[in-house]
Amino acid sequence: MNLLEWVRRAAEMIAAEAERLSRLDAAIGDGDHGHNLDRGFAAAVEALPENATPGRALVLAGRAIVSRTGGVSGPLYGMAVRRAGKELGDATEVDAAGLGAALRAALECVQELGEAEEGEKTMVDALAPAVAAYEQALAAGGDLAACARAAADAAERGAQATVPMQARKGRASYLGRRSIGHLDPGAVSTALLIRALADVAS
Ligand code: ADP
Ligand code: MG
Ligand code: MG
Repeated sequence: MNLLEWVRRAAEMIAAEAERLSRLDAAIGDGDHGHNLDRGFAAAVEALPENATPGRALVLAGRAIVSRTGGVSGPLYGMAVRRAGKELGDATEVDAAGLGAALRAALECVQELGEAEEGEKTMVDALAPAVAAYEQALAAGGDLAACARAAADAAERGAQATVPMQARKGRASYLGRRSIGHLDPGAVSTALLIRALADVAS
């Protein structure tokens, strides 16, 4: 699959949903999540090289996201994209197993940096089930498109499941029990990013 297309598609989807993501963040954070990501992914599109391996392209995109996205989500997403790129190495084609390994590396990166576990109302609540669903579909013999679809469906369910959670990490955790009853904006944006992957893979 073409991961440069993923960066472009993700940037489009984030731009289209930026207002909604920032509104979700206004309810339990500081209201900047959509705009943070819109800036970061626009910069990632700009940073895409003309001729490079998919891994190198993701490393450059991740670097742009780190440097241009405000908020805690910038380093988390940017470093995760960069780590996924490094995981791909200098492969010229991305196959189903390679994408699975890259997604797993991205999740590990987010958890190393942010120290969030599932159930703490963060992007991990969308990303962890997405990676698990991807790996399960892969083990069942699914092709890349089927695995990516399974991941996107699981990410959307995971994001939805953040509503009854109390935030334990990030700005929303300052609200204590008042964070209950809202979608986590980072989990929603993660679900968008994985849906973009499924769109491009199909
Ligand atoms: P900020 O809170 O700095 O304004 P954003 O609004 O861009 O940053 O991002 C907020 C999102 O970041 C949250 O909705 C949550 O999903 C995610 N997040 C916050 N802290 C962590 C963490 N420690 N680990 C994983 N994700 C986190
Ligand atoms: Mg915010
Ligand atoms: Mg902020």
